[in-house]
Amino acid sequence: MRNIKYIAVHCTAGSQQTTTISGLKKGWRELGWKNPGYHYVVMPSGHIEQLLDEDKISNGVKGFNSVSVNVAYVGGVDGFGNPEDNRTEEQKAALVFLLEQLKSRYPLATIQGHRDFSPDLNGDGEIAEEEFIKYCPCFNAKEEYQNII
Ligand SMILES: [Zn+2]
Repeated sequence: MRNIKYIAVHCTAGSQQTTTISGLKKGWRELGWKNPGYHYVVMPSGHIEQLLDEDKISNGVKGFNSVSVNVAYVGGVDGFGNPEDNRTEEQKAALVFLLEQLKSRYPLATIQGHRDFSPDLNGDGEIAEEEFIKYCPCFNAKEEYQNII
């Protein structure tokens, strides 16, 4: 078993209409990755697709993958590719369901968004917007899921 310290929440940063699991996998292969970017992907319908066993390492957050389980929802950008929290109600519910299950398996793990892994450049203890390495997952996951215990 891996020592899971983080349950990292992502968006796929792609279209909710046209994104498919096979398309995501193809993109990762083209990057030369042997493993997928996420353990779980939540489709706009709320369907949860598992892409990798939790004891294996996915490619979600550079530098933290060995201690993370990575979860993504399909979406996170508008029609122009700009960051947008466009989670469907079904995705919101499925994310909570999935995160509750993961938290019960890894009670010591911190649930946070990809952007919360950004370095705190000015050392004020907050990861502010101008410090984000990415906008992913395009909402404040740390705050939204703080009550999942
Ligand atoms: Zn991400």
